[in-house]
Amino acid sequence: MTDNGMDDFRIDGGLATVPITDSDVTSYISSLTRERSAVLRRLEKEAQEEAIPIIQLAGASLLRLLCALHRPRRILEIGTAIGYSAIHLAEAAREARIVTIEIDEARAARAEVNFREASVAERIELIRGDALDHLPGLRESFDMIFIDAAKGKYAQFLGEACRLCRSGGLIVTDNVLFHGLAAQPPDEVERRHRSTVRRIREYNELLRCHPELDTTFLAVGDGMAISIKR
Ligand code: SAH
Ligand code: MG
Repeated sequence: MTDNGMDDFRIDGGLATVPITDSDVTSYISSLTRERSAVLRRLEKEAQEEAIPIIQLAGASLLRLLCALHRPRRILEIGTAIGYSAIHLAEAAREARIVTIEIDEARAARAEVNFREASVAERIELIRGDALDHLPGLRESFDMIFIDAAKGKYAQFLGEACRLCRSGGLIVTDNVLFHGLAAQPPDEVERRHRSTVRRIREYNELLRCHPELDTTFLAVGDGMAISIKR
């Protein structure tokens, strides 16, 4: 995508939800992604049919790359949904133990079944409930933390993630571009998305200025921030 890609859609008046990159680019990149296991393909289909916001293929591929490079042994995920990204993490980090938190009981129940089907259940601990209630009780430190739950609570999740991440560990945040809308002036964003956009922009600013984190923002998937804790 060119530097002015974002300007292009602003000029188009495209205030509706738009992909952050050209849709041809997105589908071409997806076509280059390696074949997934049968469980993952089933979850992709279910997520599509039921509008469950699982990570995009390019984002999952980046998570897997980070696992291969960083070799985390303990991973924390905030926002399990039906277990799609956790299964990617478990497949890519064969040695890792994963703690994942989900507030929606029905989704958590499905995730548990899916973890068994993917043969990763013994390495994944699923915590049911609000991450903000459970995170303060966690004491162990993690090598990698993936934040992917309620966008309005990202700043609060980050405070806990920072405490729980070891020095040199990674904190990865999903959806930091929010369909590209985060790149637009909030006042010009459709009213129903405005407060989410404001919060995400505040969150990105928090990451940018954070005294303990060095962050790289990537236009991958729905926008991902990769932070290293000093
Ligand atoms: N990481 C998943 C997608 C997660 S979607 C994947 O890529 O496959 C975000 C999930 O976060 C939703 O299922 C939602 O129910 C959950 N969630 C939202 N707020 C939460 C909270 N405060 N604590 C725990 N989970 C939360
Ligand atoms: Mg996400």
